[in-house]
Amino acid sequence: MSEAKVIDGKAIAATVRADVAAEVKRLQASHGLTPGLAVVLVGEDPASKVYVKNKAAQTVECGMNSWEHKLPAETPEADVLALVQKLNNDPACHGILVQLPLPKHINSEKVLNSINPDKDVDGFHPVNVGRLWIGENALVPCTPTGSVILAKTVMPDLKGANAVVIGRSNIVGKPVAALLLREHCTVTIAHSRTKNIEDVVRAADLVVAAVGIPEMVKGSWIKPGAVVIDVGINRVPAENGKTKLVGDVAYEECAKVAGAITPVPGGVGPMTIACLLRNTAQAAAMQAGVKSAFA
Ligand code: NAD
Repeated sequence: MSEAKVIDGKAIAATVRADVAAEVKRLQASHGLTPGLAVVLVGEDPASKVYVKNKAAQTVECGMNSWEHKLPAETPEADVLALVQKLNNDPACHGILVQLPLPKHINSEKVLNSINPDKDVDGFHPVNVGRLWIGENALVPCTPTGSVILAKTVMPDLKGANAVVIGRSNIVGKPVAALLLREHCTVTIAHSRTKNIEDVVRAADLVVAAVGIPEMVKGSWIKPGAVVIDVGINRVPAENGKTKLVGDVAYEECAKVAGAITPVPGGVGPMTIACLLRNTAQAAAMQAGVKSAFA
């Protein structure tokens, strides 16, 4: 059996960023509008610091304004809420991202829900969740958007495809399912209580795995020729005594059966920040009452 086509998330993310840069130029030329993203980081989580640095660098590379608000770990919740309020009222700031996880004394839900939904570039606000499900113009979570963009590079017309999403989290599984429904797929959401999950997955033309269990999806679960999008990022011990990243899909065996597959790393991962930048450009256009290239 031939090997699956490898979907190159790094290259596709670069094309998304180029599209964002072109959209920023268009908004500047025609409306004098420069989209701006504010990122709020509370505390010293090392992984979060790296993400925030990468987000800021890529925001600037696309021609947008970027602001980093770094607050000490012991910042009271009221101060974080006050900062979000200030950003909500700042017309130059079109997107607000509060980096998770927040320190334990801060109620994350309360902070996320205080973001103006039109500036909620993470797409986690209940208003955006509702807009997505009822088919209104919404800011959609970044990793799910990136996953669907990758799937469409090899399956441009998803109409009528049997899609199985494994995982039902609010940040990945559910929004992926909503997006695939919008693409007219027949969508099944499998999760930890699903019976005979391998049989459910075997019926899929498109599989999106977002579980958090290393290499759970086996080659024998995949219908020959199916498209496999692996959202999982799991750090596991490597043979050399170090650690390595693997997805939720057993890559080697699934690549022998699938028609196309995303690697980990280098698949869905790079799409997340690219889609955040896309959401920021979309939010800026929406707030200015201008038609967005991405909505
Ligand atoms: P989560 O823990 O919130 O949700 C996992 C889901 O998997 C749950 O809905 C659960 O029902 C389901 N599940 C658990 N055990 C299962 C089983 N045995 N069989 C079937 N389903 C099962 O995780 P999440 O936040 O949705 O993230 C999922 C994965 O995606 C993780 O590996 C995470 O690191 C990764 N992730 C990657 C990105 C990215 O940028 N690429 C972004 C977010 C999350």
